[in-house]
Amino acid sequence: MSAYACRFCNAPLDLTFCDLGMSPLSNAYLRPAQLQAAEKFYPLHSYVCERCWLVQLPAHETPDHIFGQDYAYFSSYSDSWLAHCKAYCELMIKRFSFGATSQVVEIASNDGYLLQYFKAQGVPVLGIEPAANCAAVAESKGIPSLVRFFGVQTAQELRDSGRGADLLLGNNVLAHVPDLNDFVAGLKVALKPHGIVTMEFPHLLQLMAHNQFDTIYHEHYSYLSLLAVRGIFARHGLTLFDVQELPTHGGSLRIYARHGEDDSRPVAAAVAALLERETAAGLDAAAAYRKFERQVQETRYKLLEFLIGAKREGKRVWGYGAPAKGNTLLNYCGIRADLVEGTVDRSPHKQGLYLPGTHIPIHPPAKLAEAKPDYVLILPWNLREEIVQQMAHIRGWGGRFVVPIPQVQVLA
Ligand SMILES: [Zn+2]
Repeated sequence: MSAYACRFCNAPLDLTFCDLGMSPLSNAYLRPAQLQAAEKFYPLHSYVCERCWLVQLPAHETPDHIFGQDYAYFSSYSDSWLAHCKAYCELMIKRFSFGATSQVVEIASNDGYLLQYFKAQGVPVLGIEPAANCAAVAESKGIPSLVRFFGVQTAQELRDSGRGADLLLGNNVLAHVPDLNDFVAGLKVALKPHGIVTMEFPHLLQLMAHNQFDTIYHEHYSYLSLLAVRGIFARHGLTLFDVQELPTHGGSLRIYARHGEDDSRPVAAAVAALLERETAAGLDAAAAYRKFERQVQETRYKLLEFLIGAKREGKRVWGYGAPAKGNTLLNYCGIRADLVEGTVDRSPHKQGLYLPGTHIPIHPPAKLAEAKPDYVLILPWNLREEIVQQMAHIRGWGGRFVVPIPQVQVLA
């Protein structure tokens, strides 16, 4: 019996989805001076609600602590992600004819990585971003940004100031929201009568099918199926009228929502078709969720066998990337600098710091050519193609890439 209640429907959470042990906040990168100090660890134990099938992690820290001032993630550093955002912008303008009289509002707009493309097309934009350092970068690029968390209160403020949204979007934000009801109720408030909401989030069906347990971390409160999201939106008067499957983050959904009252947009067949696939995969019953944890443990044993085997043979292993998911993986598996000597990351905001919990040092990518490791473990496996291409020169010294998920694999 857990002490937690579902963050959407308030039913008691008794069914474990996956218990990954104790883990620090995955974005709590450490400065050298912090290495000798105590670190906070929290239970990384997720549950599934047996009433609404929302998979979730109880919150142990306030969002302000997690996404406050020093939040180290700047979206603009992955080429494939930027290409994805540009394509999204073009698709929206083409499909819904947004233009100079429309208002595009992005929730969790970060450094303006996405809104810059709407701005370039002459569409008025507004970013809502809780991390002041990210919002300041956006402002410097000419993208107006409010430093706020989104919810009913912020939505009211938008409407009162005449900035209701024709397009209200949020990429990888729905899963990061602790008060899901306040957030979705806010979408309803901020949306103009014929406005459109789009949200992208990693798809639970893919997480389970491809063993992506490392996408479970403290900043990520909900793991979403279309089934669960449809119920949440419906309760707040919003109807999903289309859905697309995307390759991003290991398999995401892009949902399209409108006011329940706005029947100018019929519900596409894709919605029912995907719900049917989720039901066929058992996402509306306990049995499928019960099997997940065993599969995760097996992944850990295999990765450790590989790393210990490499060590015994005198091979050297480095990491590539310092993403949140890497911290879940390394902490859960108990991998430290004896098994993975160091990692490299393109973001200058992370270089010179250490991974939380495991204390593996983060260097600039050029460091790999100096270290010449035998294996490079790709931590952001969702960017695997891009990284293999960018870092092809490791083959020059006989280096090989390794991916940890869905099962450890040395790439040819
Ligand atoms: Zn529930």
